[in-house]
Amino acid sequence: AKDAGRNRYSYFTPALQRAALNRMRLSNDLRDALAAEGLQVVYQPIVDLRRGHICKAEALVRWHHAERGPVPPAEFIPIAESSGLILEIGEWVFRQAVQDVLRWRTELDEHFQISVNKSPVQFHSEAGMHTRWLRQIVEAGLPGDAVSLEITEGLLLEGGDNASQQLMALRRAGLSVALDDFGTGYSSLSYLQRYEIDCLKIDRVFVHELEPGSKALALCRAIITMAHELGMTVIAEGVETARQRDLLASIGCDLGQGFFFARPMPAAALEELLRQQGG
Ligand code: C2E
Ligand code: CA
Ligand code: CA
Ligand code: CA
Repeated sequence: AKDAGRNRYSYFTPALQRAALNRMRLSNDLRDALAAEGLQVVYQPIVDLRRGHICKAEALVRWHHAERGPVPPAEFIPIAESSGLILEIGEWVFRQAVQDVLRWRTELDEHFQISVNKSPVQFHSEAGMHTRWLRQIVEAGLPGDAVSLEITEGLLLEGGDNASQQLMALRRAGLSVALDDFGTGYSSLSYLQRYEIDCLKIDRVFVHELEPGSKALALCRAIITMAHELGMTVIAEGVETARQRDLLASIGCDLGQGFFFARPMPAAALEELLRQQGG
């Protein structure tokens, strides 16, 4: 039995073992961080390319690990998804975002919107997750259109009827649904036919390659034309230069987000920007 056991697990090379152990430690530390208020929500401005003002912001979670320093979400979100901890993290981020957008709408800009990332796991866990989000919005006294949810193709791929019904209920309440990382998956176009989506976020791999006469420019132009025909708005992600901003504006892109405008920042810093823009 001992031999059989050893054989069965012999594919666990030391490197794999280390990676598994690392994931387990990170998962435990993440649980502690959530309990000890060791997570932070930062906001990245999203800019109206025609009028040049910040009209919304995307909430992004940050984790500063006591020993390792900042751990990128690309590293800990997948771990949180497989451990289920993403449910609590997601609720926490959402609560912060709802509180912040309520304050900003009341004090600074009555039309300001907040955009929150939703993992597919948050739609699969229980049928009624979305009713909790709706209740929080209603209890805050916010209209649904103060909130936009960013979903990925993964949800539409495996979500089935359950996910589609939740999305429909959220849209009926006035929330908008944005499809994140658009253009990097498999069959995005069939999803656009099957699901009601309000907004496409063009992935930054396209924005990065934007040059006059480039394939990327033709692709972005085609995506924008298609989106507008279907009644959707378009956000370009990863805008890093004035040239990219200008090219995007010249082909009718609605909104832009990226380091050219601003990096993700704490709530207080965004508040300051909004205050300056209001004056
Ligand atoms: P995402 O939703 O595509 O978020 C945009 C990412 O691009 C952010 O990375 C942002 O900092 C980065 N970014 C923004 N502008 C630029 C730019 O001009 N250039 C470049 N190179 N990057 C830019 P971040 O914050 O590291 O987040 C990574 C991913 O982690 C997010 O990708 C999202 O999928 C996930 N994530 C972050 N926060 C949450 C959350 O609260 N819930 C869930 N479910 N996922 C989250
Ligand atoms: Ca996003
Ligand atoms: Ca994205
Ligand atoms: Ca992403």
